[in-house]
Amino acid sequence: MNDTLQTWLGGQIQALKEQNLYKPLVVMDSPSGARITVNGRPGIINLSSNNYLGLANHPKLKEAATEAVKRWGAGAGAVRPIIGTMQVHMDLEKRLAEFKHVEATLVFQSGFTANAGVIPTITDGDDAIITDELNHASIIDGVRLSKASRKIYKHNDMASLKEALIDTQGAKKRLIITDGVFSMDGDVAPLPDIVELAKQYDAAIMVDDAHGSGVLGGGRGTAYHFGVHNEIDVQLGTLSKAVGVMGGYIAGSGALIDWLVQRARPFLFSTAHTPATAAATIAAIDLMENDPSFTERLWENARYWKAGLQALGFNTGISETPITPVMVGEEAAAQALQRALLEEGVMALAIVFPTVARGKARIRSMPSAMHSKEDLDDALGAFERAGKRLGLI
Ligand SMILES: *Cc1c(COP(=O)(O)O)cnc(C)c1O
Repeated sequence: MNDTLQTWLGGQIQALKEQNLYKPLVVMDSPSGARITVNGRPGIINLSSNNYLGLANHPKLKEAATEAVKRWGAGAGAVRPIIGTMQVHMDLEKRLAEFKHVEATLVFQSGFTANAGVIPTITDGDDAIITDELNHASIIDGVRLSKASRKIYKHNDMASLKEALIDTQGAKKRLIITDGVFSMDGDVAPLPDIVELAKQYDAAIMVDDAHGSGVLGGGRGTAYHFGVHNEIDVQLGTLSKAVGVMGGYIAGSGALIDWLVQRARPFLFSTAHTPATAAATIAAIDLMENDPSFTERLWENARYWKAGLQALGFNTGISETPITPVMVGEEAAAQALQRALLEEGVMALAIVFPTVARGKARIRSMPSAMHSKEDLDDALGAFERAGKRLGLI
């Protein structure tokens, strides 16, 4: 071991602890569900998972995964372009393209790697990327991998986007990138306005719909919700959140997918999904398509939850989706609220710097289709007691 490195690591960790930015892992001892076992305590109400529809532990998905293990084995054995592509991977991509009403899709190991794969692969040094200031970390990293110049516009601010489009008129191609649903505030990108500006200034659009997939537009995402899916060049979806399994995908034209298969580095150089992952995901799409009650229950619970928190006097920010922030401000106060909630039997994690700006710490709560009214009422009771004890309401 190298002393210089080990001393540096110790110092970094100590500094995080002193700033209340150190976050130990929370370990579940149960499947992801409405109530979970945490630190040996069963029955904790889970408001922190992205398992919006309750598909992660759904019997149909488990059965599909089990059957796939029996049919195809535990692993794919290689990267997709060598000899890791199985028929089940192709079936999933075809199924996803039909579901999304696009020409073609390509699945990556995760939403994160889909961003790292697509952004540098479709932009060059003489291009410009125009990106919302609150875009997800994986977009930021994808942009860093590109040789294109970059321009950051103010969050959801169309005047600022227009300015960026005017400033980058010398670029060969322009790519506007936005989250569909913003993961920390739960607000939605004004896609019809973005489409209009993009047309006016000859720019392409990429929407990262990780939190819109399975949630908006009957599960088909934010672009479909607004009816502009044919105007979006690159849609990124995740299979890890509402879809309940793991993975990311790009949906778009046949030419886009063709090019990514040849050039996207995480696709070329990282091993294919396990067959169980692909098969369980197909089962999830079948459920979303054939049973609208999953998304209906999600939205009903989201409305009930938000109204309940607001009635208690909490500030839920600018959310328009099931992502419900409870704005606290100070990092230490958000972490104190997280601890008090856990004592009360509720798992809702504090989100602090660097995930959100300093002084904008919050508890992020996400009701799901799995929660019963009783779960949500119990959780509201916990928020009331913890909030009063800490002087937040
Ligand atoms: C979660 C998330 C991702 C990453 O998706 P994974 O499949 O978990 O890797 C990408 N973009 C956004 C906006 C996200 O919220």
